[in-house]
Amino acid sequence: MSTIDPVETRSSRRRAREAFELAFSARPQWIARAPGRVNLMGGHVDYNQGVVLPVAVELDVAVAYKPRQDRLVRILSVNFDQRAEFDISELIPGSVSGWAAYPAGVAWSLAQVGLAVNGLDAAVAGNIPIGGGLSSSAAVEVAFALAFRQASGLDLPELELAKLAQTAENQFVGVNCGIMDQVVSACAESGSALLLDCRSLEFRHVPLPTGLRIVVLCTGVERELRSSEYNKRRRECEEAVTRLAAVDPDIRTLRDVEPEQLASLTRHLPAPLDRRVRHVVGEIERVYLTTAALEHGEIERIGELMYASHRSLRDDYEVSSNELDALIELARQAPGIVGARLTGAGFGGCIVNLVGAALTDEFVASVSQGYEIAFGHRPVAYISDAAAGATIQPVDR
Ligand code: ADP
Ligand code: MG
Repeated sequence: MSTIDPVETRSSRRRAREAFELAFSARPQWIARAPGRVNLMGGHVDYNQGVVLPVAVELDVAVAYKPRQDRLVRILSVNFDQRAEFDISELIPGSVSGWAAYPAGVAWSLAQVGLAVNGLDAAVAGNIPIGGGLSSSAAVEVAFALAFRQASGLDLPELELAKLAQTAENQFVGVNCGIMDQVVSACAESGSALLLDCRSLEFRHVPLPTGLRIVVLCTGVERELRSSEYNKRRRECEEAVTRLAAVDPDIRTLRDVEPEQLASLTRHLPAPLDRRVRHVVGEIERVYLTTAALEHGEIERIGELMYASHRSLRDDYEVSSNELDALIELARQAPGIVGARLTGAGFGGCIVNLVGAALTDEFVASVSQGYEIAFGHRPVAYISDAAAGATIQPVDR
């Protein structure tokens, strides 16, 4: 089991700082860091312009850096054990590939909106599993966005940085991600989830009841299916909107379908579009209900909503897998469990659990044992409190 604790979090900073000193024979001046995230509720609703309820976790990416006098960026990646170099004035989409496309994309998107972006020397290190569904990519983007903002003396709020980070990933890296990951990485508060409206980008912090911890359990199974099925679900939602708009022109996204309209509207949809819409509309409702349950400390209700979300993702949205369903059943039987659901795009990947803080170790041991008997290997577990969003601090001399 790997456990998230503050020691691990500090180690991204330390690893970035030590790598900087070795690579550049100088001290870094600043360290920017940004966390990964897990979504507690609101699966596959971001691209339908709904609401989501992610939390930042205690795993992060740290960038130790020193501003330069020119527009050159030189970066050492600790995780990839590679260096990259680019001139901000010369960036165009496609000109930088691999991991360096993420920081380059951030510099490019800041420059695209007319900002004067300064170069830097940097070392980047992270402990978020890469490609593991906890959004290491948004953490890299947001940490570099903070670094470029400071190095360039820019006056941009965190939410704007998050939007520019998303633009970087969409247009420079070429990944069609939503806005959730960047906003929660940039704006989260310790101890709270973040209720985010993916249409207006309004958000507010929702404190988690004390005594609960977040446990992420990963199947370790990565399915080729994921991106093709993800794109298929997006197309199905678009097609459902086109058909529903013919009935009710006020419907521009599935966000516009009210729960009361569901039964009458889904009659106009062929299978499986009716099921897809039922998931999205129900899931948005569950985000609001979960927010209220968290705020009122209604622990049992939170659990019911999480299991209902999982059933909906499994049966109506059809993005679960045998491994994910098995994890959910094992979690349901394990000590300390409040609730569990698959999180992220599905088809392998992870489940998120809320667990009584005193029982997290027993919980993980119990689920791991059962999973190993069924699948021959243990799930990877991350235990975390709701963490703070991105921060930047000077390196003490
Ligand atoms: P995730 O679900 O973790 O966000 P992605 O495929 O979206 O997975 O992003 C992973 C990519 O982000 C990596 O391939 C790499 O290019 C970049 N990345 C993530 N973490 C780091 C890191 N610590 N250092 C450099 N690049 C990173
Ligand atoms: Mg990502």
